[in-house]
Order: sequence, then structure tokens, then C-alpha cells
Amino acid sequence: MAIQTLNPYTNKVEKTFEAATSQQIEETLQKADTAFQAWRTTTFSQRATLMQRAGDELAGNTDYYAKIITLEMGKPLAQARGEVTKCAMVCHYYAQHAEEFLQEEDIRTSALRSFISFEPLGTVLAVMPWNFPFWQVFRFAAPALMAGNVGLLKHASNVPQCALAIQEVFDKVGFPEGCFQSLLIGSQEVEQLIKDDRIKAVTLTGSEAAGAKVAAVAGQEIKKTVLELGGSDAFIVLADADVEAVAKKAANARLINTGQSCIAAKRFILEKPIAEAFLAAFSKNLQKKKTGNPLEDDDIDYGPMARVDLAQELTQQVERAVAAGAHLYLPGGQPDPDKALFHPAILTDIQPGNPAYEEEFFGPVALVFIAKDVEEAVKIANDSPFGLGGSVWTNDVKRGQELAKQVEAGAVFVNAIVASDPALPFGGVKKSGYGRELSYLGIREFVNQKTIWVG
Ligand code: NDP
Repeated sequence: MAIQTLNPYTNKVEKTFEAATSQQIEETLQKADTAFQAWRTTTFSQRATLMQRAGDELAGNTDYYAKIITLEMGKPLAQARGEVTKCAMVCHYYAQHAEEFLQEEDIRTSALRSFISFEPLGTVLAVMPWNFPFWQVFRFAAPALMAGNVGLLKHASNVPQCALAIQEVFDKVGFPEGCFQSLLIGSQEVEQLIKDDRIKAVTLTGSEAAGAKVAAVAGQEIKKTVLELGGSDAFIVLADADVEAVAKKAANARLINTGQSCIAAKRFILEKPIAEAFLAAFSKNLQKKKTGNPLEDDDIDYGPMARVDLAQELTQQVERAVAAGAHLYLPGGQPDPDKALFHPAILTDIQPGNPAYEEEFFGPVALVFIAKDVEEAVKIANDSPFGLGGSVWTNDVKRGQELAKQVEAGAVFVNAIVASDPALPFGGVKKSGYGRELSYLGIREFVNQKTIWVG
């Protein structure tokens, strides 16, 4: 894939970038390694001062960074601003809490003293996607750098200006050279990087295929990985839920980031008594959503998808689902096969074996299932290769919490849309990946959890 900025709304190539040469890659690795030797010895308070400033830089210039995001991947500008603000928040969060999260932990044994010391690993490679091109990077970088690691970013090939702008944030606020670098390379270079001794661990957010490939190479090299992959989150609506109110939330949950979010609700599982009314209200709400030029029109709900090929792939998925017996309840879809715009659509009558039953639909297509009762709803929710998030909607909060425990996922929300929060762990089970980001668990992924025994 060419490394370029292609505005998905206009289809115009704005800027093309040369991939880094092998000499530049070598220099970058060397710089990271040198930076680590000094960075690891800094105090939490020194790191926190810089991380706090990184957060301030983002918070003070949301519009500047948001426009780069929208230009490259097409999300509505207001949503891009929200993304930048959230990145500021995660920087501030770890600036404030990293020291407490990585404090030495005394454990009582027969030793004079025994404790766990959390020590940085070195250069961590981050292979990142285009859908939240700032957030996915900052939620890795803030804890990793605060733990004393240094970061090397291989960003998705369609968001090179985001990659460079993120490095600019860290450089501008005074992080030492080499602490955080963006390397403009294609995915074929990643294997060699992982094999390099100076790379100590890898984190990847993206597709199952990319995750499997990266983890296989890292496995051969015995290097730690964290994988945050796809999801097909269930949105379970019980018969006692407020149909009109929840149908509104459902439309918002499906359209997060023009449907291109790992934790967007994708499978809507409706208890039979409310199914018909809910489906009608849900469809009505989806049809009300507005689209337009994401850089200029302020009040739109969705933009084009991030790339034409992603919209084409989604169209094919819908066609395969219909050919296998699904019903296109709300047609939506791609009005022009050569453009990335895709209107919200709904598929119903999806049986096991149908592509819509098994695959992730990474765009504005809602998959609707009707369950005869709660037990069947949970069964359908769990009958998926993925296990990232899920939500349960009911007027009985206690029952909602009990059901939340039965859903096989890394996060289940009751009466709320699934979202990430710096204070709470984020990650999946099953094909959605492993390891956790955010919270105190996230910062402990890329550290040596060292036992020290004093006899
Ligand atoms: P990819 O998973 O291919 O891309 C994510 C990142 O991985 C990019 O930096 C990409 O680089 C890199 N990459 C891809 N293949 C390899 C490889 N073999 N070795 C090393 N690195 C690799 O996502 P796509 O852009 O192709 O999107 C396809 C699908 O992925 C979506 O439809 C969706 O299902 C899923 N996805 C999930 C995301 C999530 O948040 N969980 C985010 C984005 C996508 P490059 O761009 O250079 O190919």
C-alpha cells in the first residue's frame, strides 16, 4: 500500500511519502536504543512533567490535530476533536498515576525483604491502525513512556501525517530525541523490525490477520505482544427496555466512527416481544443520520469510510450475506462503487454459517438477531469468534449486571454504549486479542515484573 494522504471524501491524493530506507530504519533503531539508556534512568516526576505537557499541547491545539485526522481518514471533524481531547486526557492520566501504578510492591515472605520492582523493557514497537489514528497511539504511548520505555510507531499507510504529527507532539514538548519516533514503512518491513534485538516487545491494534502475523514472528523471537483486534460486539435489548430511547442509542452505537470501531455495537440481539418495534425505531434513527463533507460540515453524524477498498469490501460482505439468506431490511450501502461513502444498512434473518454470523462488519452495517428469551440472547452473543465488548439494555439493573457476567467479552456495559476510559482496562478475549491497555493493568504489560529478594 502506498504511504499517502488520500482524502476519502474527495478521493484526491493530497500528499505522498517515501518509505524509510534501510539506512533510515537502522538510524531510527539506534536512536531509540540510545534514548532508552538515558530515559530509563529518569524519575517519574521528570517523565510526568513532559507527559503533562504533551497532554496540554493536544488540549490546546485540538483543531490543528483534528484536521489532520479528518483529512486522512474522513471522520467528522467534531469527532476528531473529541479524539484529540481524549488523547490529552490519557496523557494527563498517566502523568498523574504512573508512579503509583508502578510502585514497588512488598510481598511478605521468609526473606528480610521481598518485593516486585516494575522495570522498563526498552523499545516497544507499535503497529497501529487508521480508525482512531491518534487515540490508538496515545493509549499505548502514554503508559509505555511513563514506564520508562521508548516507542517506535509503524502507523497505517493511509495516515502518515497523523504519524508525523504525533511524533511532533512529543518532540515539541521536550521529550528527549528518540523517545518516540514514527517510522514511515510498509507492513512488509515489520517482520525484520520485530527480529531486531533492539525491539523488545510489540503491540498491534488492527485486523486478526495482521495480529496473527505479527504475533507469530514475535513468538519465534520470544517477544511479548499485546493484540487489540476486531470485535463484533453484541447489543442485547431485553423485553423490559425502553424501546424508543434504546433504539436511539443503538443507532449511535453502530455509527461510532462511521461504523469503523472495534467496539462499535455490531450485532443487535433483540428479545422477541420488543423486536419488531425496536427494529422499526432503530431503522428510523439510522435513516435520520446525516452525512456530508467531514472537514466542512459541522453537524454531520458520519463521513465516508476511511478508504474506497474498505467500503467495497463491506459491500461484498453484504452481498455474500444476502446470497446466503440474510434479508437487507434497510438497504443503505455504497451509492458509488468508486467512492468511500457508505450509508447505514441493516441485515436481518442471519443464520449460523452466514458470513454476517461469523465475520466482523467494519462499517455502518447493523446485524439484527431475534432471540426467543434472555438465555437465547446470551447464547447468540457468545456464539461469535470475537470477544471484545458488549452491552445489555434493561430496566432491571441487577439483572443486567448478572447477564454482563455471562457475556464472553473483555468489557460489558449495562445501559451504556461501550467506550474506553483511561481508568479501566481495555482489551479482548477469543479472536479479539489478548493483553490489556489503559488502567494500572495496561502500564504493567510492557515492564519486567521483577522479583527482588533480600536474604
Ligand atoms: P490492518 O490490520 O491490515 O492494518 C492495521 C495495521 O497493521 C497497519 O499499520 C498495517 O500496515 C499493519 N499491517 C497489516 N498487515 C500486516 C502484516 N502482515 N504485518 C505487519 N503489519 C501489518 O487493517 P486494514 O487497514 O487492512 O483494515 C482491514 C480490517 O482490519 C478492517 O476492515 C477491520 O476489520 C480490521 N481493523 C480493526 C481495527 C481495530 O480497531 N481493531 C482497526 C483497523 C482495522 P499498512 O497500513 O501499511 O498495511
